[in-house]
Amino acid sequence: MTFITLKKEDLGQAMAKAKKTYALAGPVRDGNEHLFRRLGPDEVPDLSYTCTRLSPKELIFPRTEPLFQYRVPARAGKEETTPSPSLEAPSFEEAPLALVGIRPYDARAFDLLRLNFDTGEYKDPYFVQRYETMTRVGLAETRPDPTNFSPACGTGPFDESCLDILLAEAGDAFIGKILTPKGEAFAEAAGFEKGGPEIEERIAALKQKTEAGFPPSPSFDRILIADALDLYNNTDWESLAFSCINCGTCTFSCPTCWCFDIQDEMSGEEGVRLRLWDSCMTELYSAHASGHNPRQKGFQRFRNRFMHKLKYFADKYGQGIMCVGCGRCISSCPANIDIRQIIQTLNREEAVPC
Ligand code: SF4
Ligand code: SF4
Repeated sequence: MTFITLKKEDLGQAMAKAKKTYALAGPVRDGNEHLFRRLGPDEVPDLSYTCTRLSPKELIFPRTEPLFQYRVPARAGKEETTPSPSLEAPSFEEAPLALVGIRPYDARAFDLLRLNFDTGEYKDPYFVQRYETMTRVGLAETRPDPTNFSPACGTGPFDESCLDILLAEAGDAFIGKILTPKGEAFAEAAGFEKGGPEIEERIAALKQKTEAGFPPSPSFDRILIADALDLYNNTDWESLAFSCINCGTCTFSCPTCWCFDIQDEMSGEEGVRLRLWDSCMTELYSAHASGHNPRQKGFQRFRNRFMHKLKYFADKYGQGIMCVGCGRCISSCPANIDIRQIIQTLNREEAVPC
């Protein structure tokens, strides 16, 4: 294991060095909040943030993505031959992308998304190319928001499992460890200094202190073993969903929601096929071409979102729930819906017969 150290005052210099090899993305201040986005030539990530309003999901699964462009020539006259339709795939960017300051649980969310975009039968070339080439320079979260419950979701503020480097704030410096060959390459490009083995203990102490400060986490053990139909038929759904306005904010801010729509935009003979984020909270999402909608009512869409996250996903993949506990859906919901309360309600003994 290689340990590293970086004085905070040297962060800008390290990022300037890294930019010679990598395109960089990181947290930047936006008014009173932070966004996680690509950095401009002179921008330095603001590693003093807690949680970004939107997750870094957009960097691996863009909210609007051209899949390909095409040309469908107009039919020629009888005497002429109509040119063949043509199709052009977008080129992938050349410089590898490094995400500097990504939270460990947001990096874990990329692995949950991967279960949908990179399967045994199907590989989404756009997602896979980004997933395989990006470097994740994680930043442990030592001051988590009160809405964060990531340790309950099999990850947490110091989870190393999906990172190439883990950094942690320690006074006027960052200390860290290199976890993969990709991390080695980034540390060399950024000129991080080597640190001593005592860094392991310092990081472990920070982790222990941070995790001790978390409020009791909601448990979903009984949801995992319950019958899906029993949960679906739970009589609490309408009251749980009572204040929800089906705005979709929770789905767009969630790092693990992967629903999308495909649309063609054409002008004359040319067109582009786009993939766009979609939200299961909207009425149109589940509308059939016949006009029938199996989730016409708001509470039915609400129930589907939580059944997918807490039960269907868990049953299908066997990797826990489809949630990393970032808390974004809690802090951004205009109706104060709190996923921890939904988990508690569904996990109740009397609601979930075993
Ligand atoms: S953000 Fe809140 S109100 Fe909006 S769809 Fe989600 S749960 Fe409903
Ligand atoms: S469901 Fe909520 S808490 Fe869980 S990952 Fe999505 S936004 Fe974060």
